[in-house]
Amino acid sequence: MKKSMSLIYQINRSKKRRNLALKVAQGKLEVQAPWHMSEATIADFVQQKHEWISKHLNRQQKRLASLTPREWQSGERLRWLGQPLKLKVAVATRKTAQRYGSELFVTTTARSNRDHEPKRTIIDWYKIEARAWLDAFFDSWPQTHELTPAGWSVGDFTSKWGHCTRKRELRFTWKLWLAPEWVVRNVVIHELCHLREFNHSKAFWQLVATHSPDYEEAEQWLRQHGVTVLNNQYLDYSDD
Ligand SMILES: [Zn+2]
Repeated sequence: MKKSMSLIYQINRSKKRRNLALKVAQGKLEVQAPWHMSEATIADFVQQKHEWISKHLNRQQKRLASLTPREWQSGERLRWLGQPLKLKVAVATRKTAQRYGSELFVTTTARSNRDHEPKRTIIDWYKIEARAWLDAFFDSWPQTHELTPAGWSVGDFTSKWGHCTRKRELRFTWKLWLAPEWVVRNVVIHELCHLREFNHSKAFWQLVATHSPDYEEAEQWLRQHGVTVLNNQYLDYSDD
């Protein structure tokens, strides 16, 4: 961690990188730097961009602070493919989760309720539904070209939306399905394109653009709402 004026930031160095880049995510500043660049040069750069950084940091931190932690109780609002999903929790003899239109009914046993068990049941529901969404997506995805994964799964990770393994398997976090469907499609296509280009080169983005013309808007949407959607405790985002 380095300090510049009042700014604290982390430096991530890469042998491939030629220029400095700034990233503001989760209310924190990250500097991506070339392998051998001096810390003084990096500090100068951060100093020059001080105004821009402060503006973005403040905006994100305000946004994070304005969110209330989810308690997984009746009346709370979740999302499914961008649509509001109102949570209803009841006590029953066994745990179930079922969506009826814009409501998600979850039953929990009295004892497990104390341990925030609705959360577990709800996350399991998302994983099952997300998996079904992916199955349907790949059913209609042309098998004729080389962008065919070896498999796909839905997990719990929070640091990214999805990734593509060396074994050509695609993995996604269930939180992605809180986002609108066109954004979900874009993330899936992004990972699919890594089957051919295992990097973020020009060729990669050209391939993405071929299969997903609105990918730039999707990336923008994720930059704007990612903090709130991907964060462990906060799952909601406003409609602005
Ligand atoms: Zn990627």
